[in-house]
Amino acid sequence: MKTTLKTDLTVDDVCKGFVYNELEGKGLFGLSGKLTIQPEYQRNYIYADGKRDVAVIESILKGYPLGLIYFVKVSDDKFEVLDGQQRITSFGRYVTGKFAVKDEHGMEQYFHGIAKDKQKKIEETKLTIYECEGTETEIKQWFKTINIAGVPLNEQELANAIYSGPFVTLGKAEFSNSQNANIQKWSAYVSGSANRQDFLERALEWVSKDNVGDYMSHHRHDDNITELKTYFSSVIDWVSCVFTDVESEMRGLEWGRLYEEHHHKPFDPKKVSEQVKTLYADPYVKKRKGVFEYILGGSADTKLLEVRVFDDATKKSVYAKQTQEAEAANTSNCPHCALGHDANKKKIWTLSEMDADHVAAWSRGGATDIKNCQMLCKTHNQAKGNR
Ligand SMILES: [Zn+2]
Repeated sequence: MKTTLKTDLTVDDVCKGFVYNELEGKGLFGLSGKLTIQPEYQRNYIYADGKRDVAVIESILKGYPLGLIYFVKVSDDKFEVLDGQQRITSFGRYVTGKFAVKDEHGMEQYFHGIAKDKQKKIEETKLTIYECEGTETEIKQWFKTINIAGVPLNEQELANAIYSGPFVTLGKAEFSNSQNANIQKWSAYVSGSANRQDFLERALEWVSKDNVGDYMSHHRHDDNITELKTYFSSVIDWVSCVFTDVESEMRGLEWGRLYEEHHHKPFDPKKVSEQVKTLYADPYVKKRKGVFEYILGGSADTKLLEVRVFDDATKKSVYAKQTQEAEAANTSNCPHCALGHDANKKKIWTLSEMDADHVAAWSRGGATDIKNCQMLCKTHNQAKGNR
């Protein structure tokens, strides 16, 4: 990783060839075309609010430092702004007459209307710029280390920056475009928003089996995203075929993993729909998000549902009854220990040494009421498994 500190570039230098896209709200280029102000991975210009953009100009006029600006050197004579995009776009827009700033008499003044010495002061203001170049790994490390002003880039925005190229551009056009008509359908299963890259991130996680960095690095220069799109559609289509009713708890589940684990098995959507309805109506099911994986796995792993357990009053009452009967019969108060032949055959466990168990398993229709409750020592309860 090589960083070079530059202190000789001025506002005027950076504003040479400044291009601002009014429609998309982006500062695009500067430094006579050598600088990309808003690379693909950056968010749009958000300083155009008559406060933050004005504050940048006022700082310059008062001679306050504008803070560090970071460029990434992308080739011999080409740079991208990593940090400083909002500040550069602000002064770029000001010197090109896009907004006015109030003078000391409260009059709105555009750049061309202010005194020549003030114009000169702005143009000649020197910037403090770090030019950085390095390998992908180094830049990645460095991205994470520096504190990017304003809203920090999230993981996927960082990855888009590190692996920028045709693949990321195409991926964003498909998955990060809030105008894409598919977004609504995807939103039933994927949480987040297009412009914070959540759909792109999920699509990449699914196709790469959670190796997003490797996948992006490998496909960085591809001129198509066919595999990414196809895989994502396969997962979404599979979910919507198996589970015909859309429930809000489906949003944000690990559908990529569930697809890999279960898509080769046949499901009857009608039967699945009935199972979902039954579990949704069951008052003992605490975790509805687990219903889908539970059904896909053959309705076996009740841990996924966090089935409601017996309350303390029930446990105490059952414990008292079992213990009284066990003492009278000179046997253990754990019915399983009582059947054994070891030292615990006659052991009277304390309440805290025991756990409540469903006599008839909940998954086979056993209720969570006192008639279906028995207390077992912890060892035997665990041996019986979570049912
Ligand atoms: Zn026992």
